[in-house]
Amino acid sequence: MAHFEYLKNVVTLEYREEKCIGCGMCIEVCPHAVFRFNGTRRVEVTSRDACMECGACSRNCPTEAISVQSGVGCAAAVINGMLGRKSSACCCTTDTGNPKTGGTCC
Ligand code: SF4
Ligand code: SF4
Repeated sequence: MAHFEYLKNVVTLEYREEKCIGCGMCIEVCPHAVFRFNGTRRVEVTSRDACMECGACSRNCPTEAISVQSGVGCAAAVINGMLGRKSSACCCTTDTGNPKTGGTCC
């Protein structure tokens, strides 16, 4: 599954390299091999558009270096477009996919 890509530049995945401690959990849990070690003690994003926003990396990152709006994917963008909303993102804007920070839904 590592070679699937979805729409370009719509993925909500955010990675803050300065917070990474190189534990490798994101590499282990990601079904699309979006992360890899970069030769330092940190990881890098190899193919951001391959992310399917499952949220596994964010939920398992011990330092909150990763955030993603999980569980809605492209469906939210399609529905918002059909309803004439300007945003292509889901209305669940506070959900970072991290159980520590929680989230709300419209
Ligand atoms: S899970 Fe978080 S801390 Fe661990 S390697 Fe991935 S980004 Fe770095
Ligand atoms: S949200 Fe899922 S598919 Fe996207 S980078 Fe994280 S683990 Fe991989």
